[in-house]
Amino acid sequence: MVGVLALQGGVVEHVRAVESLGARAVKVRAPEDLEGIDALILPGGESSTVDRLCRTFGLFEPLQEAIRGGLPTLGTCAGLIMLSSGIEDPAPGQQSLGVLDVSVNRNAFGSQVASAEVDLPWLGPPSDVVNPGDHLKAAFIRAPEVTRTGEGVEVLARHGDAVVAVRQGSILGISFHPELMGDTTLHRLLLQDVARHPAQHG
Ligand code: GLN
Repeated sequence: MVGVLALQGGVVEHVRAVESLGARAVKVRAPEDLEGIDALILPGGESSTVDRLCRTFGLFEPLQEAIRGGLPTLGTCAGLIMLSSGIEDPAPGQQSLGVLDVSVNRNAFGSQVASAEVDLPWLGPPSDVVNPGDHLKAAFIRAPEVTRTGEGVEVLARHGDAVVAVRQGSILGISFHPELMGDTTLHRLLLQDVARHPAQHG
C-alpha cells in the first residue's frame, strides 16, 4: 500500500501512477493514515504550504519518524524540498523534514507556470527498472535544484549542470514531475524498494 501525502498539490496523478502499476494507493491526511503503508509519495505543490499543513495536522514528526525508520519514499518537486535538510531560499518560517542530506534552491529554474518538458538521461545504477542510456520524461514546474549532496547521496539525473534527481538509501528525491508525462520509472523504483525491504514498516 502506497501512501500519497494529500494535503495540497498534485495528488491524483500519483494515485493513478501507483494504481496503473497494480499497487494500491491511500491518501495520507492524518498520522493514523501512515499505519500499514509500505511506501510514501510526497507530491509537488507549494512546499511552504505543505510544510504548514503538515504541522497543522500533526504530520510533521510522524512523517520524519516513518521516513527515518526506512519507509521507502519518493518526493517530487515540493516533496523533494520537504525531504531536504536545507532550503537556501525558504519562505518565512518554512521548515523541511531534514531526512535527505541535500540542500535545495526552491525556484532555481525560474517561476514559469507553463512546464518545460525534457528527456533526462539516467545517471543512476542499472536495475530491472531503468538502465544507463535510458531517459526519464520530465516536466519542470517552478522546479527546485539540488545545490549540495551529502555523503551517501547518489545523483540519478541532471538537467544541464543542475542535479535534479537523487537517491539516499530508500529515499528518492526529484525536482520534476514524471507523473504529468506518464513516466512511471520512479514509481517502479519505489515499488522495487518495497519489494527489497518488505515487512519493515508494518
Ligand atoms: N518551487 C515550489 C515550492 O517551493 C515547488 C514547485 C512544484 O512542486 N511544482 O514548493
